[in-house]
Amino acid sequence: MQPFQAKVTPHRPNETAEGKMVKETGYYDLLGVKPCATLDEIKRAYRRLALRYHPDKNPSEGDRFKQISQAYEVLSDPHKRSLYDRGGERAMKEGGMGGRGGFGPPMDIFNLFFGGRAHTHGPRMERRGKTAVHQLPVTLEDLYNGATRKLSLQKCVICKSCGGRGSRDGLDTRCPKCHGSGVEVIVHQLGPNMVHHIQTMCSQCKGQGEWMRALDRCLACNGRKVIREKKILNVHVDKGMADRQKITFHQEGDQMPGFEPGDVVIVLDQQMHPVFQRQGNDLIVKREVALVDALCGCKLVIHTLDNRKLLVSSRPGTIIKPGDVKCIPNEGMPVYRSPSQKGKLVIQFQVKFPEPGWLPAHQRCQFQSFFPPREEVMATEDMEEMELREFFSQPDFQDRVFHRECHHEDDFEDPLRHNVQCQTS
Ligand SMILES: [Zn+2]
Ligand SMILES: [Zn+2]
Repeated sequence: MQPFQAKVTPHRPNETAEGKMVKETGYYDLLGVKPCATLDEIKRAYRRLALRYHPDKNPSEGDRFKQISQAYEVLSDPHKRSLYDRGGERAMKEGGMGGRGGFGPPMDIFNLFFGGRAHTHGPRMERRGKTAVHQLPVTLEDLYNGATRKLSLQKCVICKSCGGRGSRDGLDTRCPKCHGSGVEVIVHQLGPNMVHHIQTMCSQCKGQGEWMRALDRCLACNGRKVIREKKILNVHVDKGMADRQKITFHQEGDQMPGFEPGDVVIVLDQQMHPVFQRQGNDLIVKREVALVDALCGCKLVIHTLDNRKLLVSSRPGTIIKPGDVKCIPNEGMPVYRSPSQKGKLVIQFQVKFPEPGWLPAHQRCQFQSFFPPREEVMATEDMEEMELREFFSQPDFQDRVFHRECHHEDDFEDPLRHNVQCQTS
């Protein structure tokens, strides 16, 4: 970027006051401030939002209030804020500021004991949903030309009727027995002056911290807080993308109140192509040419993946030998993110020889005259004359002989004879 422009726009959207890029802006977004906001601006924003979403005033927005408080707690503390700027929400959790005694207001006592509700990964206190991975079959044409694919998914979204509370009309869903902690403390009297406290999962809410009568459940989601919805994702397959390449849709996973939705990851699955094989940015095509073309020069037409026709000819005077590999530069796959550049189109040649007897005997002499002089082999008396025969490979010949030797003589069957039968049957 030119220095002049930098002066006009001192902060790009994801930049802090020091001009550093932040990893995530989630907490800033919650408070409606920019990452370059001053402490004063953050305080003002929090005060305004806290008044609006405080549970006393707005009981249906409890989760929102928790999130705002969480964001404020991090952003108002210079140390936590710089940790968050560098590492995002994950860093806050790994730095021990997430579940375990970090945030005041969000009442995360549940996570402390049971490691989170559904959608979390084990004991790590992730407040983030699972990443959903889907495979998307794509053709080589898609990867060559670029394509947009619609992918239909089922996903859980927060119920709009109850705002994710699960109850009707903003009723308090906190469990009356454990007061929302999900934990019950049972006191055992061990002796006259001795008691034993045992913490167990609350029996009424099964550790969920929430409980309501069946009657009080939201009619739309039946108390589940979320509703399954069909969602169409537009997957943009860019030119030159690779097989197994991942395309991430941030936070498009299942929603759950109090959780950051997980990502949806699309993994491209390149299908086999009948003509081309791909090797990085190169395209490989096999072609068979007739012997006469191999010797006298050939012309061949190759249909490209974007429906053009290439007329490819060999340089006059060159000979194509069986197994020869030639290439056409810049006709391979487009390079990802710089599609005007392309790899090579690689042609692997096979030479098709004529069938036996194609050349009448009386023309052989004339034919020979076109070729460089032959090296004559003289027969002498000490030589034994042999004739070439057809050869069929017998990969398991040794194996079978070995097994036969272990058996009785009368089982013996001539392996060669057997093999010939296989060939002709
Ligand atoms: Zn509902
Ligand atoms: Zn309970």
